[in-house]
Amino acid sequence: MLKVSLVSLGCARTLMDSEVALGGLAAQGYEVVSDVKQADVAIVNTCGFIEEAKVESIETILELCREKKKGRLGAVVVLGCLAQRYGKELGEELKEVDGIIGTNHYGDLARLLEPLKNKKKARVFEVREKPRYLLDEHSPRHSLTPPHLAYVKISEGCINACSYCVIPRMKGPHRSRTIDSVLNEIKKIAGERKLSEINLIGQDTAAFGFDRSRAFELPLLLQKIADQNLVPWVRLLYAHPGHVTDELIDAMARNETICKYVDFPIEHSHDDMLRRMNRGVSRAKMEWGIETFRKKIPGVAIRTTVIVGFPGETEEEFRDLMDFLKDARFERVGAFEFSEEEGARAYGMDGQIPKAVKRERFNAVMAQQMEISRGIHEAQIGREVEVLIDERPADEAGVFYGRTQADAPEVDGQAIVHSEKNLEQGEFVKMRVTDALEYDLIGAC
Ligand code: SF4
Repeated sequence: MLKVSLVSLGCARTLMDSEVALGGLAAQGYEVVSDVKQADVAIVNTCGFIEEAKVESIETILELCREKKKGRLGAVVVLGCLAQRYGKELGEELKEVDGIIGTNHYGDLARLLEPLKNKKKARVFEVREKPRYLLDEHSPRHSLTPPHLAYVKISEGCINACSYCVIPRMKGPHRSRTIDSVLNEIKKIAGERKLSEINLIGQDTAAFGFDRSRAFELPLLLQKIADQNLVPWVRLLYAHPGHVTDELIDAMARNETICKYVDFPIEHSHDDMLRRMNRGVSRAKMEWGIETFRKKIPGVAIRTTVIVGFPGETEEEFRDLMDFLKDARFERVGAFEFSEEEGARAYGMDGQIPKAVKRERFNAVMAQQMEISRGIHEAQIGREVEVLIDERPADEAGVFYGRTQADAPEVDGQAIVHSEKNLEQGEFVKMRVTDALEYDLIGAC
């Protein structure tokens, strides 16, 4: 039995692809090991989104090639977004790599890696120009998340064409799963382990179903998941503001199990910038979305992401973004410096912003947001909030780490819970907030 290990880089969507990749291999008799040094085959599921992510992927691949050279592992396979984007170049530059497999084969690795079993093997190269892969509830998964939470990918690829983004090239056009397929998968996972939270993901979850019926079917999907009532917390990530509707907000408002949380990436606030970014949404539509979420879902936490330093961004446009963030008082903000990516329409666009200016603007956004976030957290001191316990650090007696509904896993803050009780991972507790940090809450139960 061949031992396989996988390093999963990038976002939650890649993590899910990694679960399917390992699930498919385990179903075909591979043994999944967590330590790459014990593996016969080490796979890197890569990210190819922006410069920083590409560098991290390359460094990880090179590190595994060094381990292979030392005879500590058998084969190195590069999987996913970076392979999809630069398959040929990687093949030419990284001679030690044994397999380069794009984004169309997560569930099919066992067949593709078969030749690696033969020592006189030729390199495996499988990169399909237009990926069409879409998982379903029958795709075996090897969970890479703590048992009480799971990601459920409801669609693949993207319907939008933002001028700075290469994801549609790496993941292909938008394609949605069926509602039954998603419901059956949730039923399956909930049948296998005690789930406290599921996170619905895709490139643009709000466009769910549009490729099939020219209608936004996410409100219906959320209602059906809520009616299933199998999981206490259902969280929505990656909802493009242009596809958020009244029906969606109503579906979230009327169902307790749908977290009072939405990931609503604006990227910028100025209409000229939104046009140049080809975001397909106006400032007015985003303002309507924020206002309507806040009106219909009191206490909702809105997360957003912004890009600073997009080509041609004037000081005035940047000021506009800062003022917009100040007024909107988002609970959570992630910021990115524009990364010039070949293959994206913004590549080579006039008016590229110097790195130092991009960094300056990034720091300004984060500094302003830190004050906003601290204020939002301090306002909760003395209140009781619901916390989902994620872990209990072995070396800190009476301390537990968890999250409120306002914190998505991995990307947002956490709640630090002090308790004499023996709290379990996946347990919900009522925490009285006693203190607040910029991004975290502290309390007791
Ligand atoms: S919505 Fe835009 S930024 Fe997001 S994946 Fe699609 S094209 Fe890229």
